[in-house]
Amino acid sequence: MKITEHYKNAEKNKKPAFSVEILPPVKGQNIQHIFDTLDPLTEFNPAFIDVTYHREEFVYKKHPNGLLERKSVRKRPGTVAICAAIQNHYKIDAVPHIICGGFDKEDTENALIELNFLEIDNLLVLRGDPVKSENTFVPEPNGHRFASELLEQIVDLNHGKYLDDELENCCTTNFCIGVAGYPEKHFEAPNLNIDLNYLKKKVDLGADYIITQMFFDNQKFFDFVEKCRKIGIAVPIIPGLKPITTKSQITALPKTFHVDLPDELADELVKAKDNKEVREIGIEWTINQSKELVENGIPLLHFYTMSKSDVVVNVLKGVL
Ligand code: FAD
Repeated sequence: MKITEHYKNAEKNKKPAFSVEILPPVKGQNIQHIFDTLDPLTEFNPAFIDVTYHREEFVYKKHPNGLLERKSVRKRPGTVAICAAIQNHYKIDAVPHIICGGFDKEDTENALIELNFLEIDNLLVLRGDPVKSENTFVPEPNGHRFASELLEQIVDLNHGKYLDDELENCCTTNFCIGVAGYPEKHFEAPNLNIDLNYLKKKVDLGADYIITQMFFDNQKFFDFVEKCRKIGIAVPIIPGLKPITTKSQITALPKTFHVDLPDELADELVKAKDNKEVREIGIEWTINQSKELVENGIPLLHFYTMSKSDVVVNVLKGVL
């Protein structure tokens, strides 16, 4: 089922619906690792499960002669296979994240064909962050610079338009396309309005729904939705929520995801004596955020698990 249909169903039902995002395990683990993460969550009936995509990183390996070798490694491969395994094992829609970084248009087309053959019809389409060792995002030669360009290629395929325009009688694909939105703006955008105009461009080009970056202050989400609606973005906007679980996340999350912690939350977390207390505060905060979103008519909540399902299970117990 398409994410947009899940959203419509959630709107009709009295009970709030939810989805989760998981990460592929680090190389060396097997699929049981994913099932162990998901089993406790599937008891609550998630509408869909997102699986992130992690491009290559560059590491330096020192040889006995002292020379350094630059090596490309992918620490968390397997996004597509994990999605297929989830759909097969749980009969729950899985949503692979698909990015511009590291892919040229041909690679993208081939990846989309594989997804189509696997009957994976929902996508979250992203640009991807710069490679860790680089400051700015560099597209592949003949790749895409922005998520909007990647989205256009997917929309083309949905219309049966492949890169090779000599192909005839091509089948169409049926991808439901999600894109990212940033209530506190994307870190590279000069301001929120400019960022929103690019988000509108993604929707005008064919994005079916938006999932937001995590936020800890619901007012920021409500303002974001209002601004989106004002400029004509009419598609579902699904809020992304992350329970804080460790002291280190108090600084790591703002640094990594360019989001602010409200004073009330930050003060409480800073005062917490250990990670156990941080976790309790984080869970309670997310429960309250979720309840307020639901009270304000948001039918579907998206939880970033960072592969720690027990925390999200505790939130769900408090919300559903
Ligand atoms: P874009 O929409 O391309 O925007 C990137 C920047 O360019 C923005 O500042 C925007 O304002 C600007 N911009 C857009 N179009 C134009 C234009 N035409 N001209 C000039 N400027 C423009 N990353 C991963 O690597 N893997 C994942 O699995 C992953 N999952 C994510 C899931 C969610 C829900 C979110 C919110 C983010 C995720 N990310 C992931 C991170 C994401 O890839 C980064 O935030 C990335 O820096 C931007 O991606 P985007 O799709 O928003 O980019």
